[in-house]
Amino acid sequence: MAAYDYETHDYDVVVVGAGGSGLRATLGMAEQGLRTACVTKVFPTRSHTVAAQGGIAASLSNMGPDNWQWHMYDTVKGSDWLGDTDAMEYLARNAPAAVYELEHYGVPFSRTEEGKIYQRPFGGHTTEFGEGPPVQRTCAAADRTGHAILHTLYGQSLKNNAEFYIEYFAIDLMMDADGTCTGVVCWKLDDGTIHVFNAKMVVLATGGYGRAYFSATSAHTCTGDGGGMVARAGLPLQDMEFVQFHPTGIYGAGCLITEGARGEGGYLTNAEGERFMERYAPTYKDLAPRDYVSRCMTMEIREGRGVGPNKDHIHLNLSHLPKEALQLRLPGISESAKIFAGVDVTKEPIPVIPTVHYNMGGIPTNYWGEVLNPTEDDPNRVVPGLMAVGEAGCASVHGANRLGSNSLIDLVVFGRAAAIRAGKTVDREASPRTVDQSEVDKALDRFDGVRHAKGTVPTAELRLEMQRTMQEDAAVFRTAETMSNGVEKMTAIAGKLDDLSVTDRSMIWNSDLMESLELTNLMPNALATIISAEARTESRGAHAHEDHQERDDENWRVHTIARAEGNRINSIRMTLSYRPVIEDPLTREDEGGIAMKKIAPKARTF
Ligand SMILES: Cc1cc2nc3c(=O)[nH]c(=O)nc-3n(C[C@H](O)[C@H](O)[C@H](O)COP(=O)(O)OP(=O)(O)OC[C@H]3O[C@@H](n4cnc5c(N)ncnc54)[C@H](O)[C@@H]3O)c2cc1C
Repeated sequence: MAAYDYETHDYDVVVVGAGGSGLRATLGMAEQGLRTACVTKVFPTRSHTVAAQGGIAASLSNMGPDNWQWHMYDTVKGSDWLGDTDAMEYLARNAPAAVYELEHYGVPFSRTEEGKIYQRPFGGHTTEFGEGPPVQRTCAAADRTGHAILHTLYGQSLKNNAEFYIEYFAIDLMMDADGTCTGVVCWKLDDGTIHVFNAKMVVLATGGYGRAYFSATSAHTCTGDGGGMVARAGLPLQDMEFVQFHPTGIYGAGCLITEGARGEGGYLTNAEGERFMERYAPTYKDLAPRDYVSRCMTMEIREGRGVGPNKDHIHLNLSHLPKEALQLRLPGISESAKIFAGVDVTKEPIPVIPTVHYNMGGIPTNYWGEVLNPTEDDPNRVVPGLMAVGEAGCASVHGANRLGSNSLIDLVVFGRAAAIRAGKTVDREASPRTVDQSEVDKALDRFDGVRHAKGTVPTAELRLEMQRTMQEDAAVFRTAETMSNGVEKMTAIAGKLDDLSVTDRSMIWNSDLMESLELTNLMPNALATIISAEARTESRGAHAHEDHQERDDENWRVHTIARAEGNRINSIRMTLSYRPVIEDPLTREDEGGIAMKKIAPKARTF
C-alpha cells in the first residue's frame, strides 16, 4: 500500500472547481453561512469560463419583446426534446434574476443607449414559441462575457469568506458504505503534499471534457476530471453521446469565433461565395442552432464546395460590418482572427470549421444540482452528499444540443440552486465525520500506481491516439461502421492505460503525473461517449447517425446512463441503461406555467 502523509480539512461544503459554476456555488454556499472551501487545479480566473465570449441568455426584453416561456420553448426545441422539462423551466424562469444578480455583483455588461444591459441575437433564440422573429436575448460584456463574470464572482466569493485551495488537484471522491459522498482526496501541486477534505457536501464543478478530442475550443485543462471521479466511484454518466461541434472554430487552430459574430450580422459562405445557410434554413439562416449549422457546413465541404486549396473549410464574413461595430462588439475575436488565422476581419473572411466545443452529457443531476444514481424503480434517486453543476453536470437542460449562451446561464442558475438546496439540507451543527482510511488508501493507491507507472506507452502518445480516434469516429456525422470501429479502437486504447509510462516520479509541479491523471479521467468520458453513441440508433440534436437519420421519440426519448465496470485505474467496459426524460414542467398552465401542448415534440425545422 502507498504510504503518504496527509493533512485533513473539515468543511460543510467543498466545491471542486472555480469556473463560473463552481464560483457561483461557492459564493452562494458561503453567503448562507456554510463553511465552504473551493478546491481548484488552476487559478480561479484561469478556468475555461474566462474564454466565454458571446454572452449569457436571459429574457430581459431590453431589445424587444421577450419572456421566459419563449426562452424555455427555444431551449426545449434546441435540446431536440431530450432535456428534462422541469430543469429547462427552472433555467428559463430564473435566468433574468440570475443576470440582474450578476449585474449587482458588479459584472460590467455592455449597455444600450438607455443604459440597460445590451443583448445580441444568438442561434435558435426566437419569439412566440418559435413562430416569431429572432430575439436579442444574449446579454454580453463585449465579446469577453465569461471573463467579466468569472472575475466578478471570484471577488464576491472572497468577500464572503469562502476559502480557496488553489492549485490543488482532486484525485478521487471518498464514498461511505451507504453510498454517501464524504469528501475528496487532493494533491497540492506546488509542494507535493496530500490533503483530505472531509465534507458534508461535495460539489463537482470541474467543467467539460473537450480535450478527449483532437480539435477543441476548450482549454487544455478541460479533461473531465469530475466525470472520471464519478465513474470510478461506481456512479453513472448521462447522455455522453451528445458532443457539440461549434460551427466556427478557426481552421487549423481550433480557437473559437463566437456565435455572436453571426449574431452581429456575420455570415458563412462556400467556395462559390454562396450564403449557403439560406438554402438549408430559410428562416433562421446563419443563426440556426449549432448542430444544424455544423452539419450544413460539413455537407458543403463533402459536396466539394469547401474553400481553400484542400476545399476543407468554410468562410465566415465580417468585413461588411462597420469598423466601429467590430471594435465595440467583437474586439476579442478580431484579435484572435489576426493572431490565429492571420486575417484582418475588416478586409477578409475568417477560415472556419466545426470544432468540438461543449459536452451536453455529464454527471446526471436534478434541477437542484443533486447527483442522481438511477435505479429501475427510482430513476431520480439522489446520491447523498454529492452535487454537480456546470458543464460537468447534466441537469439536463441542453438535452441533445445546447443553444448558444445557455451554458453561462446554466452555470449561474444551477450554481445558485445548488447553494439554496445545500443551505436547506446540510446540517451546520453536525460534527465532522471521521476520515475513512480505506477510502483514502484507495485513492492514494491509484495515485501511486500512476506515479510509478513503468509501462511502455508515454501519456502524450496515448492521449493523441484517443483524441484522433474520437475525432474520426465520433464526429459531426456518424455511421454504424465508424462507431463500431471507434468502440473497438477506444476499448483497445483504454486498455493501454495498464501499460502507461510515467517518467517523472517527483511530487512537486509534476506535469507528467498530472497529465497522466487527467488522461485516466478523459478515458472513461471518451469511452462512455463512443459506446453511448453506438447504441443510439436514431438522429437527435448533435448525434447525427447516417444509418438512422430520423428522430425516434417512441424508442429513444430517453437519457443514456453509462457506468464503468469495476473500480480500477482503467475501466475499459461500460454498461448502458436508460432513464426516462422528465416531460412535465414544474408548473402547470393554470399556475402560470407553459402549456404542455406548446412543448410537445414535433419536427425540428428552421
Ligand atoms: C472558447 C469558449 C467560448 C464559450 N463561450 C460561451 C458563451 O459565450 N456563452 C455560453 O453560454 N457558453 C460559452 N461557452 C461554454 C461555457 O463557457 C462553458 O461550458 C462553461 O464556462 C464551463 O464552466 P464550468 O464552471 O462548468 O467549468 P470551467 O470554467 O471549465 O472550470 C472548471 C474548473 O474545475 C477545476 N478543476 C477541474 N478538474 C479539477 C481537479 N481534478 N481538481 C481540482 N480542480 C479541478 C478547474 O481548475 C476549473 O476551476 C464557451 C466555451 C468555450 C470553450
